[in-house]
Amino acid sequence: MKFKPAKCRVLALGFKGSRSIVDSAPFRLDGGEVRVLDRDSFWRYLGKNMGWESAGFSVAIYVAWIIRTLVKAEFRRPNRAFQPFFHAGLTSGGLGIPNLCCEADVLKLSQAIKMVNSTDPSVRAVARGRLALVVRRTCRVSEALETLTVEFLNCVSLTGHDSRAYGDAHGLWTEVRPVTKRLGARWFVTEDGLYQLAQGADCCQDLGRLTKFLHLKVNQRWKTRWMDLPDQGKTVECPSRYGSSNRFLRSSNVLTAVERSWMLKARLNLLPLRSIRGRFRKRVELSVVCCKCGQHTETLPHVLNHCMPVMDIITNRHNSVLEELLDSIPSSSSSSRCDVDRVCEEHARLANRRLRPDLILADARRVLVIDVVCPFENGVASMDAAVELKHAKYEDLCHSLRLATAKTVEMHTFAVGSLGSYHPRNLAIPRAMGVSLFESRLVSERAVVASHRGSHRVWKAWCSFRDNERT
Ligand SMILES: [Zn+2]
Repeated sequence: MKFKPAKCRVLALGFKGSRSIVDSAPFRLDGGEVRVLDRDSFWRYLGKNMGWESAGFSVAIYVAWIIRTLVKAEFRRPNRAFQPFFHAGLTSGGLGIPNLCCEADVLKLSQAIKMVNSTDPSVRAVARGRLALVVRRTCRVSEALETLTVEFLNCVSLTGHDSRAYGDAHGLWTEVRPVTKRLGARWFVTEDGLYQLAQGADCCQDLGRLTKFLHLKVNQRWKTRWMDLPDQGKTVECPSRYGSSNRFLRSSNVLTAVERSWMLKARLNLLPLRSIRGRFRKRVELSVVCCKCGQHTETLPHVLNHCMPVMDIITNRHNSVLEELLDSIPSSSSSSRCDVDRVCEEHARLANRRLRPDLILADARRVLVIDVVCPFENGVASMDAAVELKHAKYEDLCHSLRLATAKTVEMHTFAVGSLGSYHPRNLAIPRAMGVSLFESRLVSERAVVASHRGSHRVWKAWCSFRDNERT
């Protein structure tokens, strides 16, 4: 066998004490000198650089990275996809994939507090004794006072004490300190001498629920990080606040893979529109005007809700959401009258206005006036404003109905956002219509799916026009 030195590389590792070093001594093979790799070139030959040389490297980081890469491929996410989306809970609109580093922190903190408060006296004595020993050695004091121990655990700067070198005291209690800081938790001691954890204004007193409490706080932190992103916080705010909007993420069969992928992209504001294209390309688009109507800025709210050439399809989305509501009316309903999209005759007679609410249901005692609206999710306030606007629109009509029928009249707005946000007030509507609790949950899921499909149809119609224009 003959080597070709020009095609070979040397990767020489050694140890200096407990620290790994790179041996850069020249290396000759078959008479030729072989190039010696430096530390930063390893990844070219051994795969992606995972920062193995850094002190913070852990298997959890590597596995978390592998999981994210696989999920990116499964959901066809581009590289711009971000960490909070992967780790935020399903009810928040994220993918709910646990972050292994956070999981390790939660378990470590939970283990520490359970040991130091254990109901078994011997376990508690050993844990507290070891903690006191670590505090004494680290802070170089003769006695570990309670306040000093809490300061130590909270990773507070220990003025006057050398807290840098743990020496042989390194172990669970020294590892708990950075974990406490990372999770934003705070240790304190109760009057009964128990160690407890607080996070912000909340405190967990039940040790049995401690892990759940910490998981909840970790999820909230991911959600907050996601909402704080300037380009995604707005579109994510509504679906993340209303849990019913995200049930489709748990069911794999309600949307096709294409529809599902499109919806996630739309919620993450990653669709290729002129108003945001500058973020992803070096060349900023000269015009940001809608390529279809040529009148307004090409933004996602404009395309999905306001672009006039696709208004027929936008109206169809509204109608498909209404159909889901109509389908849920039980056949055994006692309603004597069910008007769909008809002029309210009583209001026309009394006020001479020809308003057409989507649905009027009347029985012997009560009249329900229901109107469907599919606003764009420009924050929670805009969803609420859309509901209030409908209420104000039909206030006179409800008054006329009360006078004409002498019955109780209720006005409801069934608001499902164009990105699938299900307004919490909607939950009362199927129940008012006499639909069972189980069926009303199905109505919420079907209405959200109808809105998703409708928005995807609007997008396809809008894109087909754009593509035709270019060819
Ligand atoms: Zn337009």
